[in-house]
Amino acid sequence: MAKAKKAPVSASKASPSKPTMKAMVFYEKETLKLEEKPIPEPADDEVLVRVEACGMCGSDLNYYFGISSLETKTGKGPLVLGHEFTGTVIKVGTVPNRLGLFKEGDRVVLDPVQSCNTCDQCIRGFTNLCTKMSVLGVSTNGGFAEYCVSKYTGTKRLPDNVSFEHGAITEPLACATYAVQNLDVQPGQVVVVYGPGPIGFIMTQLIKASGAGHVVVVGTRDYRLELCKTAGAATVLNPKEASSAYYCPDVVGKMRDLTGGRMAERAILATSSVPAMEQALEITGKKSVVVYFGLPGDKDVVRVPALRSMFGDKTIRFSWLAPFTWPTALNAISTGLVNLAPLVTHRFSVDKVENALQLLSSRQNGVMKALVKPNL
Ligand SMILES: [Zn+2]
Ligand SMILES: [Zn+2]
Repeated sequence: MAKAKKAPVSASKASPSKPTMKAMVFYEKETLKLEEKPIPEPADDEVLVRVEACGMCGSDLNYYFGISSLETKTGKGPLVLGHEFTGTVIKVGTVPNRLGLFKEGDRVVLDPVQSCNTCDQCIRGFTNLCTKMSVLGVSTNGGFAEYCVSKYTGTKRLPDNVSFEHGAITEPLACATYAVQNLDVQPGQVVVVYGPGPIGFIMTQLIKASGAGHVVVVGTRDYRLELCKTAGAATVLNPKEASSAYYCPDVVGKMRDLTGGRMAERAILATSSVPAMEQALEITGKKSVVVYFGLPGDKDVVRVPALRSMFGDKTIRFSWLAPFTWPTALNAISTGLVNLAPLVTHRFSVDKVENALQLLSSRQNGVMKALVKPNL
């Protein structure tokens, strides 16, 4: 584990002589404050970046509304949220400088999950399970600010043809890539995606690109289901809204009809809904694979029909973060394998983070992803 310590960023250390930046600081449930803070100094193993675009994630909503606690020592703020972001390199710490990795002006994207690369989990290759992990925007200051420091090992070059806006979606794409790899889609299969949000939209594309024969997306917002149709979903089902053109109160029966009773071969959960997690076990057949991705609450329990699952030789698995899928994700963006443009529906300046959070939680105005752009 590197000994380098982060430069403290707190109002008490502010001095008028130091250059400052705007940062939106989260304190506690529904309390954010726009503050003027000293621009952090990169430690030996860090890089200082000017934030260009920072995506807002469902987990930011959970922190803001007090549904999840942060991974700081106290579980609380003050902390700058935002973990999906791109930036321009402003200053390079001594280690990455000596290695010739970055220079001022480089366009980069940050992998917020910054593993130590030394603990028992990391040396086995499970960097997503690092026991000394730090996470930008979750345990250390993140991207809802004009500047941020990142470990050089979590700093990646952004391909020239990838915009800062689309690059900011690399982190969710990398997580979705790992989940779809875990789904092990085979050519021609019937695959069901639960949850048509930004992750479900990305997964639909990756699943189609993996050779799926028929992708079904299940969700409760028609505008999102329709977007998934443009991404390759042949069937979309809305089990909730009776007024929907896609209304389907009996998803299990519909899947039975669609597959001639064989049921789906794969299902993936881009939702935190426990009923959906349980239904996925009903709509999948023998030798199927079900991957859980969306984060349930910490007290949630999924009931598994044990004997039937065993007789079907089923695989039920979980997918967490994005170990070693960043190069694949960046290639997927730069080669055009995935289309991220429809996801960027709203942009906010750093002083409007709260408006972005409210918009996302309301699901109004066709929102998919909101980006915070400090220089907007
Ligand atoms: Zn996220
Ligand atoms: Zn580690």
